[in-house]
Amino acid sequence: MTTRSCPKCKGQSRDGFLCYSCVRATKKALDRIADLWPALQETITRRDRTQPASEVRAQTIYGPLPFRDAPSRVAAEVRNDLVGWVRISIDELGADVPRDTIPGLCRALSSSAHQLRKHEAAAEWAESIAGDMARIVRAVDLTDRRAPAGPCPERTEDGEPCGGVIVAVYPVDERVSPWMECTKSDPGTDICGGVWDATEWRSLGPRILARKAQIDGQKARPKADLSLIEWPAEVPAEVTPISIADAAVIYGVPPGTIRGWLHDKRLTKYPMAAGLSTPGRPVTVGVDPEQVARLAAERKAELERVRTRGERE
Ligand SMILES: [Zn+2]
Ligand SMILES: [Zn+2]
Repeated sequence: MTTRSCPKCKGQSRDGFLCYSCVRATKKALDRIADLWPALQETITRRDRTQPASEVRAQTIYGPLPFRDAPSRVAAEVRNDLVGWVRISIDELGADVPRDTIPGLCRALSSSAHQLRKHEAAAEWAESIAGDMARIVRAVDLTDRRAPAGPCPERTEDGEPCGGVIVAVYPVDERVSPWMECTKSDPGTDICGGVWDATEWRSLGPRILARKAQIDGQKARPKADLSLIEWPAEVPAEVTPISIADAAVIYGVPPGTIRGWLHDKRLTKYPMAAGLSTPGRPVTVGVDPEQVARLAAERKAELERVRTRGERE
């Protein structure tokens, strides 16, 4: 039997075309490009308003500064790139002509993904979309914080245990809830490419722990030397602590209120898993999301009571 491989990641691909996890990553990058586009425009406007004079001066004194005009160049080149791929999908794959907006182009490419994955330039497509996203992220100076949580407990498309590592992604944009995603620990592994939103972490956490225990029990297998986080022993298996900042975002409660609950011992203080701390700024206190959810609900009811009482008086 011949083993076919994905033209981009060289991982397993049943039909030899772009693999499921590469398609998934590309679709996610397209979503991100659409999401980040307004921030990129804002960066361009802000620079145009505040920087032209100094830019001219800097150029005469120090010579051209290639990074100064990056955001507008990035915007133009990303747009060209998206238009180019959309054109291929229209001309060669018979896709519909989308609305000429960045979200429109991104959505069109996302819905053509299953034809594009079979195109001869599929690897180049995936590569360039990932590159476009990375360039926008750099241009607007955004970097999501990523922290490994442990081995993926899922199975791949082929029913094999997933070789991926689950990474918690904390977006810079605080309006976006953190999510976890299955990522490759090394290029050759076959992964499920799953994505879990913050509400699913509680059920995912124990499964990651169970998978880690299982791998640790199979020391002879090569997968056991994945670099995994150490989950603190004193945390009960059914609790997956999250940071105060994350709990504040997820449950819409000010961080100060959560700290108050910890101080009043209404909330249990857990050590944070080492891998989930901010690089350079260690998060040492973790809280049980379920406890926070309960207290947040009580607080909301209390605020509601206070408000209606205020209205009556
Ligand atoms: Zn691939
Ligand atoms: Zn996985």
